[in-house]
Amino acid sequence: MRARSINRNTGEDRQPSLLVSRTFWFSDVPRLIPVCRMVGHKPVVDGTDTPCRWVACDRCGIRANPQGNLDPALWDIGQPYTGPFNPAEPLSPIVRKQLARKGIKPARASEPGPIPAHPVGTVGGEVHIGKSKWRTVGIDFKVGNCGSEQVLAASLRLGPLGSLYLHTEDHGRWLQRRLNPTGYQSRETGLSYYRGRLSWQVWARRDEHRASDPKWMSGSVPIDPRHYLYGPRKNRMLFQTEKVPAVVRMPEGDTHDVLVHLEKWETRRTRGRARTYWMAQWDCKKGIPVRNHDWKGDETFSSAWTIQGVTPDNPRWPLIIAAAAAEDCSRDRARYNYRAPSEDAA
Ligand SMILES: [Zn+2]
Repeated sequence: MRARSINRNTGEDRQPSLLVSRTFWFSDVPRLIPVCRMVGHKPVVDGTDTPCRWVACDRCGIRANPQGNLDPALWDIGQPYTGPFNPAEPLSPIVRKQLARKGIKPARASEPGPIPAHPVGTVGGEVHIGKSKWRTVGIDFKVGNCGSEQVLAASLRLGPLGSLYLHTEDHGRWLQRRLNPTGYQSRETGLSYYRGRLSWQVWARRDEHRASDPKWMSGSVPIDPRHYLYGPRKNRMLFQTEKVPAVVRMPEGDTHDVLVHLEKWETRRTRGRARTYWMAQWDCKKGIPVRNHDWKGDETFSSAWTIQGVTPDNPRWPLIIAAAAAEDCSRDRARYNYRAPSEDAA
């Protein structure tokens, strides 16, 4: 097992009120699969509704490597896998990329490879101690789905005291396969407080809400007394600038064309004074890659912030938004341990 951490609280974005701000990883952590280690894996056919079948261990959920590409007409999900295993070594990502550069796309092996006997994975996270500019309060726990990059994740956010985020990569597949075996929706359970509202999720789908969901699954209630005294807070947009082209320059050297604009918003309670603020928005048509992924692109397309003191009166506002976008994407890259394509070639 190897441990490594990076201090996040350096450079221009340093927040002096933060005592600790680190991203950390424990790599090569052995997966906790005592039964599989003792008696071996239990290969079954796994898959999705889109006809796609592969082989994984029924107990620990580890997939064969390569996972295989079985004929859905012959193999049902959950059926014990009795077919052959392909003893060939899977291609490494580097070889795969070198072949791709030459325009060669190796055929996906239809027979599954072996299920790794001594699987390891990375457990990582972020810890912030002290007052930061991200002052949210809450606790949550995610159980991912069969396609999740991080099967389990949890966060504890204590406002001005700090926050802790954890994610487990493939650790916890056993739990995921018991609790959330089908579909591509992760499930979240948590409680949080934001701007006078207490919100909860109980086993709620992370990226989708359905009208048929029971009320207890997710919701929020205002707990700010001003809500009851002065009425609910309403926001409306008063004005927006036209969209201006700008360039986001990432520390890795890549640049991205974006469109930026400012929006002026008003917030007020029914029986209260109005307050206005500016929101900065950026939008990148092609997206800015922030994560390496073999089978889907992970890119950030757009985002919005409230930026203090940036108004159209400052002629440099497009540059300020582009710099903030670079900072935001850069933080995501650090979190996902992103490697630029050129680093692979070197
Ligand atoms: Zn197993």
